[in-house]
Amino acid sequence: MAAMDNSNEERPTFVTHLECSLTGEHYAADVVQGLSREGRPLLVRYDLEALAASLSREDLERRPTDFWRYREFLPVRESSNIVSLGEGMTPLQPAPRVQERMHGGLVTIKDEGRLPTGSFKARGLALAVSMAKELGLRKLAIPTNGNAGAAMAAYGRRAGMEVFVFCPEDTPETNLREIAMQGARVWRVNGLIHDCGRIVREGVESMGWFDVSTLKEPYRIEGKKTMGLELAEQFGWKLPDVIFYPTGGGTGLIGMVKAFDELEAIGWLGSKRPRMVAVQASGCAPIVKAWKEGGEHAEEWKNAHTVAAGIRVPVAVGDFLILRGIRSTNGFATAVDDAEIEEARAEMAELEGILLCPEGAATYAAYKKELASGRVGAEESVVLFNCATGLKYEMPPVTEALDCREPVDYAALAGS
Ligand SMILES: *Cc1c(COP(=O)(O)O)cnc(C)c1O
Repeated sequence: MAAMDNSNEERPTFVTHLECSLTGEHYAADVVQGLSREGRPLLVRYDLEALAASLSREDLERRPTDFWRYREFLPVRESSNIVSLGEGMTPLQPAPRVQERMHGGLVTIKDEGRLPTGSFKARGLALAVSMAKELGLRKLAIPTNGNAGAAMAAYGRRAGMEVFVFCPEDTPETNLREIAMQGARVWRVNGLIHDCGRIVREGVESMGWFDVSTLKEPYRIEGKKTMGLELAEQFGWKLPDVIFYPTGGGTGLIGMVKAFDELEAIGWLGSKRPRMVAVQASGCAPIVKAWKEGGEHAEEWKNAHTVAAGIRVPVAVGDFLILRGIRSTNGFATAVDDAEIEEARAEMAELEGILLCPEGAATYAAYKKELASGRVGAEESVVLFNCATGLKYEMPPVTEALDCREPVDYAALAGS
């Protein structure tokens, strides 16, 4: 009988080194690393030939359905260092009514709200915290718009570590409270996520913190990479035509592109890629601007604002990697405004019974817009990412009431 989960199986690992994403310079694996000398993200590299020789798609299909099934593609050496809260594979939900209304191709929602802590940040932080444990780190600090902090609090405390979290003061209230309740120290900061990032960076030395900011350590992206591995496997090793991804720091988009490259290198996927679409909010769209202008890097976005807190990221260290991921797949970047996000969220909930987070709703709004503009064809199959459970976010109030001591006018109930 198969083991109940993959996290307590010893499996071979294939990490050879880390590599600067800008210069290709090599760095040692298995020691604490942050950014490269150039201040750019480090990417984990594997001996893919040896990996391919040790694992087949059939082996994989026999394993239990948690994301540690992709262990050979992940950096944790010792299973005893895996910090887990039960990371299941997330379902692909078809959206047939939406599809019918839109007259477009197959629409599928990847529902990441099912992960521990209710968001896909669990993927990245499960890996980052497991690697922190493997490398002997004890004090972690993070700037966050909410979900990353919640995931780090949960995984960090699960591993018995100290966790310090810095959030913009208007971070969704549920996020702030779940972080605090899960045993982290959390502060509201009167600025945006990059201001929180500076507080972490400047405190690293005197506080003895390890900085777990997006792409400033090498392993969150490896966790997010599992989204690409999972999609490929769930689609029977043939990917959909277009992926709409709500893009803040961009770890997920970059991670999926990395996953597809690794799968092609071992012969499990062909060279055809889904077109990667970075979705941002029009109140904070640095990647969209850089994409339109043909830039290799994005400029800081001033006065960033949107209801979609998770994508309110005015500066991304991985900007050039996001832009490369979009361009190399013939994708694009597009922005939607808050009114479109809220309308899309209500429409999806009503039509399909799927409660999206605002960022997930942004992908649906973007799909509607780009199907109408013709940038996405009516024959193209699309995946929309819902990155967090919709339950964490505000919903419109309910105002209807009934007096149980009075006769009920049933006919009136039918009409409303
Ligand atoms: C973090 C987050 C995003 C953005 O993800 P990145 O990979 O950092 O770009 C989108 N939506 C939600 C709900 C998030 O928490």
